[in-house]
Amino acid sequence: MSEKPKVAWYWCASCGGCEESFVDLAERLLKVFEAVDIVFCPVAMDFKREDVEKLPDGSITVALINGGIRLKEHEEMVKLLRKKSKIVIAYGACSAWGGIPGLANLYNLDEALERKYLEVPTIENPKEVLPTKKIIVNIPEAKMKAELELPEPLPVLLPLDKVIDVDYYIPGCPPTPDVFWNALQALLSGNLPPKGAIVGASNRSLCDECSLNETKPEKVLVKEFKRPDKAKPEPNKCLLAQGFLCMGPVTRGGCTALCIKGNMPCTGCFGLLDGIVDYGGKAISYFGSILDYSPVEDKEIKKAFDSIPDWVGTIYKYSLASAKLSHKAGAKKPKRIKEVVEI
Ligand code: SF4
Ligand code: SF4
Repeated sequence: MSEKPKVAWYWCASCGGCEESFVDLAERLLKVFEAVDIVFCPVAMDFKREDVEKLPDGSITVALINGGIRLKEHEEMVKLLRKKSKIVIAYGACSAWGGIPGLANLYNLDEALERKYLEVPTIENPKEVLPTKKIIVNIPEAKMKAELELPEPLPVLLPLDKVIDVDYYIPGCPPTPDVFWNALQALLSGNLPPKGAIVGASNRSLCDECSLNETKPEKVLVKEFKRPDKAKPEPNKCLLAQGFLCMGPVTRGGCTALCIKGNMPCTGCFGLLDGIVDYGGKAISYFGSILDYSPVEDKEIKKAFDSIPDWVGTIYKYSLASAKLSHKAGAKKPKRIKEVVEI
């Protein structure tokens, strides 16, 4: 019987980008497969829940879990993986802090379903069919009915550590292959960081590793906030000093400033530095402090802040579900979800 460490990988509410980052290890994947046994990875191989249930408790060395917890099924699976695993890692921004799907917490579940299935301009749904626990589909051509059952959604999206105990976090949306590789090396070497650590990335702000840092003034002051879809940044000059809302000063480094290299401001996917409890709170306080108005006029501040249409989506793009104010109050059991619908 193999003595290799056993690794499980499970995805919850995810876009698939985190799995892609695993594939992006490219030839290093061969070393991963040499070093570990993959015992569960439903995105790539035909594993079933029963395969995990049959494993002895604590027999999986490392379980990597990406995506936020949006469904009862996710909740059950991560609890099962916690029981079976020595180390559980929240992989990527969605698992660590709720990520982009966590922005749905701005709505209660009924509102989110209505927005997604009835209102958005790209939807065509004349019968107004919404997700339902059980759907009976009539198939006249085959003279039969088929039954589909969907897992029940939770009232809000939760980061992994609000559901189970998490040992480590790997940041990024998605984590870069190098960050994943560094984290994997640390974990497989047995040289484990303290519990709760963010592994594979640094604890210094992104500005420290950004090639434009030398053009960033010691005290940044801006009169307006610009957006990259409305204005073109000058090359080779700190984006924040030009007024673009770059999250670099308040974001953990480790990605080698990939977005900045593409002339795009940092949007904060590596999350908060150690000692910060609320990423968006830190960001808004920082951006408020660099506005160059003296004496400050309310209308000037308002004009500067109004230039960003979606502040919550900007400063909490990856972390709303783990913020101090993490969801809309009154997110109760949805009325919109029916037990059975026949179509
Ligand atoms: S962290 Fe980013 S890449 Fe990973 S599942 Fe979430 S949205 Fe996708
Ligand atoms: S461009 Fe952004 S990350 Fe780079 S130095 Fe300026 S503020 Fe920091």
